[in-house]
Amino acid sequence: MGRRRLIKGGTVISVDPAIGELSPGDVLIEDGRIAAVAPAIANVADAEVMDAADRLVLPGLIDTHRHTWQALFRNIGSDWTLAHYLTGLHGTISGLYRPQDTYAGNLLGTLEALDSGITALLDWCHNLNTPEHTDAALDALVESGARTIFAHGGGHRHWQPVSSLDHPAEDVRRLRRGRLAGDEARVTLALAPRGNQFATMDVTAHDWALARELGIRISCHFGDGAWGLGRPVAALHARGLLGPGMTFVHCNTLADDELAMMADAGCSASVSPDIELQMGHGWPATGRLLAAGIRPSLSIDVCSSNGGHLFGTMRATIGTQRGFDNEAARREGRESVETMRLTCRDVLQFATIEGARACGMEHRIGSLTPGKRADIILVRTDALSMTPLNNPIGQFVYNAHPGLVDTVLVDGRVLKRGGVLVDVDLARVRRLATGARDGIVQRAAGRNGLRLGGDWTPLPLAAPA
Ligand SMILES: [Zn+2]
Repeated sequence: MGRRRLIKGGTVISVDPAIGELSPGDVLIEDGRIAAVAPAIANVADAEVMDAADRLVLPGLIDTHRHTWQALFRNIGSDWTLAHYLTGLHGTISGLYRPQDTYAGNLLGTLEALDSGITALLDWCHNLNTPEHTDAALDALVESGARTIFAHGGGHRHWQPVSSLDHPAEDVRRLRRGRLAGDEARVTLALAPRGNQFATMDVTAHDWALARELGIRISCHFGDGAWGLGRPVAALHARGLLGPGMTFVHCNTLADDELAMMADAGCSASVSPDIELQMGHGWPATGRLLAAGIRPSLSIDVCSSNGGHLFGTMRATIGTQRGFDNEAARREGRESVETMRLTCRDVLQFATIEGARACGMEHRIGSLTPGKRADIILVRTDALSMTPLNNPIGQFVYNAHPGLVDTVLVDGRVLKRGGVLVDVDLARVRRLATGARDGIVQRAAGRNGLRLGGDWTPLPLAAPA
């Protein structure tokens, strides 16, 4: 018999409609799986009891799209436009990453995510300039202990649109034959191709065929700003390339009929409201996706511009959509909406079960359901900002933050306890990250004006040779 844990006496928010909320409620874990969720589970022999009094107990949050390698340059682009980002990050910094820098960035970013209650992260890794970069990125994901989907996104040379270079297939096949052969492992494989916004349709067809050959999901940017205005999803549909197993990131400027095509084909979506609002990708598509029949997942995206935790993302998502809904009511001559169209419960589902669906993992994670993997977080409710507890889901969405994430489990393994990451040498992680960052700045030697401090606004570079 494997190790058992009993999480006892918490306020359980299961995100499973058949179980609902339990206060108090207990969760029993056996062999890394959720064995039972009930109002009171009698003490189980040989189980370690975790006291969850004054704690919310929820499924771990799921981030379906983050360029984790960029964590080294956290917030350097907080005042950048999209053009600044393209020249600053992709034109100046990305090519200077050595494999050890990719490792440091991914380790920092994944631990940061775990610390904030994100138990599953799709690492949208699109700075893989050599197989050594790929291995280094993956090493960090494995070491972190988080559940991760390594989405292979090619390297710097592939991201010169409109590209006629095929995705580096052999590097992906190598992973599928070796380290990422299994779909039930803690770290799994996906493909993050450029798609027909950033590569030719023939390259896109090649890349889609690669995902099919390897039996892996696709995550692809669509509908971010002007790139989305050329009906890219309609073109994909016409080529017969739409189908299940695909998550489309952003979707802001896709037409309504393209969202319907996605829904018909069984595609999922990932909304990253912070970066979409900053970079002018268009209004977050949450409401339009819902109208088309797609419940979106949420994502961080560019962690060198915005924050790295999903609490901010949930608030940006709900705030923007409620603004839209009230504005629509006003235009129809009413004072405001009569009832909220988008609720806190919806947004919590986006950050959990819909994230699981967008990763093809709804049978394994995303809710506290017996049989699923034990990816669970405990969030403090004894803080002033959570007292008194009147509306657990509302307070989680509007008032919680990474500092209140007390305990984090992945596969039943405790990775954060008492507000502190377990068995992580934080001094080493910080030293590696800062050293990697410093080395890149040094090697840039002032190229395009690169400097730290918050006043670097990169100017467009000359076209790449
Ligand atoms: Zn992105």
